[in-house]
Amino acid sequence: MKAEFNGQTLNAGACPYCGQLVALEVEAETEEEATRLAAETCSCVGARRERETVQRIETAHDRINQLFGENATEYGFKPLSATEPIELMKDIAVLVARGVITSSVMGISGQCRAKISLTSKGEIKVERSEARSLQLST
Ligand SMILES: [Zn+2]
Repeated sequence: MKAEFNGQTLNAGACPYCGQLVALEVEAETEEEATRLAAETCSCVGARRERETVQRIETAHDRINQLFGENATEYGFKPLSATEPIELMKDIAVLVARGVITSSVMGISGQCRAKISLTSKGEIKVERSEARSLQLST
């Protein structure tokens, strides 16, 4: 098979993981797009692993939004007052998914602790913990 320009579009792209030419379901307008689409379609181990990693990152980002963003109230938590820790946690989740770090704990001033770690199954775990104590005395 050959990657051909049909006027202005490409009908195949080279997978960046195995180098094979992959027929594209949607035609690409640039070689870069063709490569990206090929990686999304190719069935080689490298491409499959990358798709799994991307999926894990998306899931972790959803969990971070759920536990620390506006929806935190659904779990009985207050949403974080600053958005920077959420962005930082999302970057950490990428590093965990890519195997650069295995876990990270962040203390968020006056609010909670956040832990992002890799489980033995290779999934990304997102935890939020708050220590609450209340004492009433006369
Ligand atoms: Zn491939």
